[in-house]
Amino acid sequence: MNAEKLPHIVIAGAGFGGLRAARALAGKPVRVTLLDRNNFHLFQPLLYQVATAGISPDEIAYPVRAILRRQKNLNFRMAEIQRIDRARQTLITDQGEIAYDALILAVGSQTNFFGLDSVARNALGLKSIQDAQAIRNHLLCMFEAALQEPDEAARQALLTFVVAGGGPSGVETAGAVAELTAMLLKSDYRGLGSQVRVVLLEGTGRILNHLDPDLSESAERALRAKGVEVRLESFVEGFDGAQVRLKGGGSIAAHTLIWAAGVRSAGVVDSLDSPQGSQNRVRVNPDLSLPDDPRVYVIGDAAYQENGGGKPLPMVAPVAMQQGQLAAENVLARLDGRETRPFQYKDPGSLATIGRSQAVAQLGRLKFRGFLAWAVWLVVHLMQLVGFRNRLVVLINWAWDYLFYERAVRLITPER
Ligand SMILES: Cc1cc2nc3c(=O)[nH]c(=O)nc-3n(C[C@H](O)[C@H](O)[C@H](O)COP(=O)(O)OP(=O)(O)OC[C@H]3O[C@@H](n4cnc5c(N)ncnc54)[C@H](O)[C@@H]3O)c2cc1C
Repeated sequence: MNAEKLPHIVIAGAGFGGLRAARALAGKPVRVTLLDRNNFHLFQPLLYQVATAGISPDEIAYPVRAILRRQKNLNFRMAEIQRIDRARQTLITDQGEIAYDALILAVGSQTNFFGLDSVARNALGLKSIQDAQAIRNHLLCMFEAALQEPDEAARQALLTFVVAGGGPSGVETAGAVAELTAMLLKSDYRGLGSQVRVVLLEGTGRILNHLDPDLSESAERALRAKGVEVRLESFVEGFDGAQVRLKGGGSIAAHTLIWAAGVRSAGVVDSLDSPQGSQNRVRVNPDLSLPDDPRVYVIGDAAYQENGGGKPLPMVAPVAMQQGQLAAENVLARLDGRETRPFQYKDPGSLATIGRSQAVAQLGRLKFRGFLAWAVWLVVHLMQLVGFRNRLVVLINWAWDYLFYERAVRLITPER
């Protein structure tokens, strides 16, 4: 059959969900266009290590064209989607319009500042490579500035690092910032003494509140042992770049606020004009299609589905990948006139690392912590990285860091 006449499936987003959907359509009688604003797939779970000078950005990103080079029925286009026109079955992008017969929307999420304008202006998000590099530059610049600051209170504010959000990203970031700062004080900035403070703010009564309480407690103890001040039931109300203001009064003098307190679906999904659940995620049918549009599927962080217990499915990579696989299968089923299948999440468990030799893991009823959980975390993350070269380089960096207490990428590279 003439390839031009085959149904055109457009996948928007080359993240975890989009890539899996693309692979599931390999060799099928459809034309696939995969779109992303970036020309690479980003492994977000290791962004915090880029932010804390452990690894380089190119070790957690991989060109999409290289990943899908062998897939003959697929074209990749680098384009930013501005709007989705469902009536015309067309995506409006900065590179022109793209029509679809079926659309799999896998555009993920973006940082949510919950309408706190001063925080949006002055805090550092952690969602992209640019964000991670900005954090790394900023942390190192604070040390350089502190070394030249004669006033003790001003120096203390430069060396106070606040992380908001006690979920996995915030916990991992706070642990890594504490390790980085301890290392910097011992090696590059010995004159600074012990003025560094790392503060983790969590709005609820415990960190990692998706895990069982005993694991939350273990994680909190491990963070405190690294010198992190964990403050529970603390909400940020504002940040002017010098003071973190807390709800109910009180503030922390600090020039650094890393915002890991929330995300919402990527803004472009609003143009679907379809009902949304929490975090602006788009409500989908059990088979992942839109309630009133069987040609459009939404998956991953952008989609809202409940897991049976009335709770939304978590915004994690396994959900996105499993939904990517099913959305592709359901698109094909509908083209063949077969019934679509409902999504059922197979939860592989949760892991969070607190730093060197410390992590917590909950895999079904199995729970473990400490070195064993950390070893599992290392293996799982290494195996999921795309590209043999990336795996090898990250492994070498980790080993170097572990053996010599040395962070490899302590470079300040401001954007010009
Ligand atoms: C710091 C951090 C740490 C995390 N750690 C973990 C972890 O340890 N384990 C875990 O399971 N999950 C983790 N997650 C969550 C996980 O990364 C997400 O759940 C997962 O990436 C969702 O997959 P997705 O396909 O829905 O979206 P993504 O993987 O985010 O992909 C979305 C893609 O869409 C593209 N895109 C968005 N908007 C547009 C547009 N308008 N035009 C063109 N392209 C667009 C983006 O460039 C991106 O490539 C972490 C997330 C962060 C930010």
